[in-house]
Amino acid sequence: MALTETVPAAVPSAHEGILRRQSLRESAARTYARSLPIVPVRARGLTIEGADGRRYLDCLSGAGTLALGHNHPVVLEAIHTVLDSGAPLHILDLATPVKDAFVTELFATLPRELAETARIQFCGPAGTDAVEAAFKLVRTATGRDGLMAFSGAYHGMTAEALAASGGARHTSVTRLPYPYDYRCPFATGGERGAELSARWAQSLLDDDKSGVPRPAGMILEPVQGEGGVIPAPDGWLRRMREITAERGIPLIVDEVQTGVGRTGTFWAVEHSGIVPDVLVLSKAIGGSLPLAVIVYRGDLDAWQPGAHAGTFRGNQLAMAAGRATLAYVREHQLDRRAQELGARMLARLGGLAARHDCIGDVRGRGLMLGVELVDRDAGPDAGGARPADPRLAAAVQRACLDRGLIVELGGRHSAVVRLLPPLTITDEQADAILDRLADAIAAAVRTTPGPTGSSPTTMRGTTP
Ligand code: PMP
Repeated sequence: MALTETVPAAVPSAHEGILRRQSLRESAARTYARSLPIVPVRARGLTIEGADGRRYLDCLSGAGTLALGHNHPVVLEAIHTVLDSGAPLHILDLATPVKDAFVTELFATLPRELAETARIQFCGPAGTDAVEAAFKLVRTATGRDGLMAFSGAYHGMTAEALAASGGARHTSVTRLPYPYDYRCPFATGGERGAELSARWAQSLLDDDKSGVPRPAGMILEPVQGEGGVIPAPDGWLRRMREITAERGIPLIVDEVQTGVGRTGTFWAVEHSGIVPDVLVLSKAIGGSLPLAVIVYRGDLDAWQPGAHAGTFRGNQLAMAAGRATLAYVREHQLDRRAQELGARMLARLGGLAARHDCIGDVRGRGLMLGVELVDRDAGPDAGGARPADPRLAAAVQRACLDRGLIVELGGRHSAVVRLLPPLTITDEQADAILDRLADAIAAAVRTTPGPTGSSPTTMRGTTP
């Protein structure tokens, strides 16, 4: 298999020096920089060129941000147009033609029922800022305080968003079981598992003695991303919508990662047809620049002027890049492309799983794909799942990088290899990604003992 190609102009020693200075100067909290020791200097589409002179296929895409890949011509053109026009780059929340065009394009993509009365609030530029804004909005609108969120969720790193995420400690957010088919908390999986999860939510809300007062809102991801690429069944999402609607609880759908075509529809809520009360949006809507908004039903707009403010809410370059991205995805039906290509890639991953005992599950929706690595020696639990194998997952990630493929890990115990390629990739690029991944898994299995100390995994058949 072809490994990475060499970029002639590169200077390997600059690469080493930059990485060394980074490790000396940057916070211990740095994340991707630890598992992906590369120094990107140029990027286009799926490809990043490093200062080490190598080319990498980037399936991390800025944590799912780059719907059109790196430096797409329409995004660059939109940015240049604003720069060349002399428009102000920073305008707080004032009206501008650039913002007006962005909102018009965004509203055109929304589910009709939401678009009819929708209000948009430009919050701080990160996804987590939009989550905070959504919580504050529903608290103001309902006069209630509590929130419901799901096990395994990821909503961000600011205090309230973190409190609603899976890693939360000491929080009053009520936690509900997310329908995680492979590791079903009810050990049944499938429709039955999802139904039990819905019933649990319903019984907490309807039981006067559950200890859970009626919340201000419920927040969920239609596909949990950081939680390990776990798509919620459409039927379950419809049940959550019914349960919340019947009880006057605003449903907040976090589409920070699933939005803009990623899962095979423009917004992931379209698969189930549910209409959220609040949509939380960031990442791809800024076309690779920082931008976050909440879009919500008009009658929730109970905020006083200035109730939720902030300095950096008017990034004109991000709005222009975002408008260009939204329009390109819509015009080129990249959501449909994500659906078709994602289904083919998932089928190929299924073939890989059939050959490797260390792959417990492959799953995803559109171009949001995950491969869960498990202890190949352990037996299944009552629900049929085997323990996660984070060490093997880390070895696979390293082996991918050696082969010029950038992948992220996520999920419980960081044992899910995640693929988030740009929606613009070709069939050949998709094949190259999967070839490299298959090769990396085979190599990692050869060199990494199982968690219980056994020798290499049994591999059924040959590498595809
Ligand atoms: N919600 C979801 C679903 C996310 O995936 C993320 C980021 N991965 C966030 C919120 C937080 O976004 P940010 O990192 O921009 O704060």
